[in-house]
Amino acid sequence: MTIPDVTARGLGVPGVPGLSGAGVTAVPGSTAVLPTVPANSASADPASADSAPADSAPPAAAPGAGALPQLQPPGFSPESARRDIPILHRTVNGHPLVWLDNGATTQKPRQVIEALGAYYGAANSNIHRGAHTMAREATQMYEAGRSAVAEFLGAGSPDDIVFVRGTTEAINLVAQSWGRANLGPGDDILVAVLEHHSDIVPWQLIAKETRARVVPIPLTPEGAIDQDAYADLLSSRTQLVAVSHASNVLGTVPPVKEMTALAHRYGAKVLVDGAQAVAHFPVDVQDLDADFYAFSGHKLFAPTGIGALYAKPEILRSMRPWQGGGNMIESVDFSRTTFAPVPHLLEAGTGHISGVVGLLAALNWFTSFDREAVAAYESALMTYAQQALSTVPGLEVLGSAPERIAVLTFTLAGQDPAGIADWLDRDGIAIRAGHHCAQPALAHYGLESAARASLALYNTSEEVDQLVTSLRRLQEAPEEVR
Ligand code: PMP
Repeated sequence: MTIPDVTARGLGVPGVPGLSGAGVTAVPGSTAVLPTVPANSASADPASADSAPADSAPPAAAPGAGALPQLQPPGFSPESARRDIPILHRTVNGHPLVWLDNGATTQKPRQVIEALGAYYGAANSNIHRGAHTMAREATQMYEAGRSAVAEFLGAGSPDDIVFVRGTTEAINLVAQSWGRANLGPGDDILVAVLEHHSDIVPWQLIAKETRARVVPIPLTPEGAIDQDAYADLLSSRTQLVAVSHASNVLGTVPPVKEMTALAHRYGAKVLVDGAQAVAHFPVDVQDLDADFYAFSGHKLFAPTGIGALYAKPEILRSMRPWQGGGNMIESVDFSRTTFAPVPHLLEAGTGHISGVVGLLAALNWFTSFDREAVAAYESALMTYAQQALSTVPGLEVLGSAPERIAVLTFTLAGQDPAGIADWLDRDGIAIRAGHHCAQPALAHYGLESAARASLALYNTSEEVDQLVTSLRRLQEAPEEVR
């Protein structure tokens, strides 16, 4: 797919999608905006990896993993993504960074970093108000971002997209606006057990106020959503089904399209949490027939603090304001206030304008790759990682649903997850340990905490080998050096 090139509309400064040709010049030095790294802990110079302390030698090739068939990237090379991402070339604790915490957040390409610098250096203005050139340009960029998100999600119109801080805010918006108007005593909200807390707690809060019920949809032992149980739970009481397009802890990709069709037979609406899905496979909200779809920019190579909510136009038009303030009104009077149309109605106050600029740059970057080839590469990398991890004594991966993204949550016999993350960090490998904001999903396996490696398009089989080598060394290490 192609994202509208705002530059072609006479708007883009080099480095800022959307700002040159309008009498604005590029920001001096904007191409050199890189994160500063403290000299004692890391270096942006890959050569300094050689200065690793003697007690933390770089991991050798993974025994066992080395015997695995080589990964054949079909039509996509992770190097083509890696070379754009400065942070992947720093070191951590004397080792080249291995970033396997993509489920928490993704790393940013220089195109995004430069777009932010160039925006603040040459284009900063508030939007939707002010009769000056800068305000008009910033507004055009912001709205170009909305068009890009609509196209990325397959929405029918940019007006179906509301900018929010992220998935959490999107779901709270739906709960507070749509939920408050449409839920009542005796109504059911069906929520899959694998949901992130941000797709559970907002429903609990609004259910308490409206005296509706939150009903969990159970999982199978494999970590898939139990489709028979789901069909049994649906009834005329069901007002909403909340389901992730991909689980952040089990990797499960539920059959969202089929689940949505079934929910619609009962007149229920479906909210899809796309936080983990959007960076891994193409999404088409109209094909899914989703009523609501939410995602966070920061899990999609964009800055933190920006995300989007899609809603079907007829539903969006029926929604009441959830926050009041500037931008969402037409006129204000002490006797009568009139409101702006959606999506502005739901965007009170000054939005995260630079965040939208960064999101636009991220979408331009990400969609420049062949998405199907990226998905195929990630799937091959996932298979490689599963085989490689199976060579680590005592390691068990949670979840084996038929459709999964490249998320590997695991336990290691005799090790606590925080200790595993700490050990790997000494080798420069970043994974996550804890409850992953999905306590019911872990409780399904009798766990309170687990370790998680989550992969992205820029990860490589060599990085998987380093993870496996380090984990094997941990299993062999005497107690006193752990
Ligand atoms: N849903 C899922 C599946 C997630 O993985 C996350 C983030 N870990 C969220 C929702 C919440 O996203 P954010 O914190 O960006 O709002």
